[in-house]
Amino acid sequence: MCSGYLTINKQALINNLKKLQRLSTSETGSVVKANAYGLGSKEIVKLLATHGVRKFFVATINEAEIIRETLGKSPEIYVFSGHLEGDTKKFIDLEARPILNSIAQLNRHHSQSRELPFAIQIDTGMNRLGVTSNDWVKELATGADFIMSHLACADEPSNLENKKQLNKFLQMTSELNIPRSLSATAGILLGNDYHFDLTRPGIGLYGGFPFSDSEHVVSLDIPVIQTKVINKGESIGYGASFIAQKKMTIATISAGYADGIIRSLSKKAIFYHEGIPCRVVGRISMDLITVDISKLENEPNYLNFIGPSQSIDQIAEISNTIGHEILTSLGNRYSRIYK
Ligand SMILES: *Cc1c(COP(=O)(O)O)cnc(C)c1O
Repeated sequence: MCSGYLTINKQALINNLKKLQRLSTSETGSVVKANAYGLGSKEIVKLLATHGVRKFFVATINEAEIIRETLGKSPEIYVFSGHLEGDTKKFIDLEARPILNSIAQLNRHHSQSRELPFAIQIDTGMNRLGVTSNDWVKELATGADFIMSHLACADEPSNLENKKQLNKFLQMTSELNIPRSLSATAGILLGNDYHFDLTRPGIGLYGGFPFSDSEHVVSLDIPVIQTKVINKGESIGYGASFIAQKKMTIATISAGYADGIIRSLSKKAIFYHEGIPCRVVGRISMDLITVDISKLENEPNYLNFIGPSQSIDQIAEISNTIGHEILTSLGNRYSRIYK
């Protein structure tokens, strides 16, 4: 038995891709870092490639391996972290392309793999990754596939930082005659000025905020292992933190914080059965969660965590985080089903 069933709706993902493609006239690449946001790189890149995606983005060179294995030679695989010490052989073997973000990386890349293509990342104000000096940009950009930067506040359309970064990007790249890329999902939604030649959506493909037009891609159903009736005054779980105020029916389900259902949700998480909400009672354990199913007429075989009754964004909100983190925390104990 597995910890649960993570069902990925392929048509919804493709619809999201098509909607994102229609929002700009640029080429739409796809960000598939962190195991395609937890959905499973192999199946996701196959699907995206079948529907015309030619450029894939990952965070580290190791993540490029499964994509190259799955898709063969044709797609371009770009690595955000650039060309790190010790990775040269992998870049050559995998024909992956680093997005270089410093002079040191450029020198490393050119001295060790001169013929291999690359791209460039410049920093336009986020102060996270990328070359900052105008003086170096021209030198770096010679021969690059494209030049990119990343927006810090794109999910807040009225934030003045967006325009500031856009202007800086224009100023740093206007004299270069190479393709440009600035926007992830949120940037695409800011409009034409932000699109340039290539966009880099991730979360929008997988059905998350801020792409409100997206369709839900993921659902998560957790098997019920045991149900029992407990009496008033009995406690449940570690620390005996929950004491029943009345007779209740409890379902113990087969997932826990090791599967991304974080422990701090113990008092907040809600599971659903056919649209009926069922509250977690007691602490979430590593592999098990206890849920009050007193309201249900029949004992369910599964309880739903992500689905029509509860989106990844709603879970993100009660968890004080973003959909990206909910998806990438799901872990690898679930069976992933693509249909
Ligand atoms: C993760 C990432 C993206 C994708 O961001 P989403 O918000 O998921 O669309 C794009 N560009 C860079 C540099 C990233 O790190």
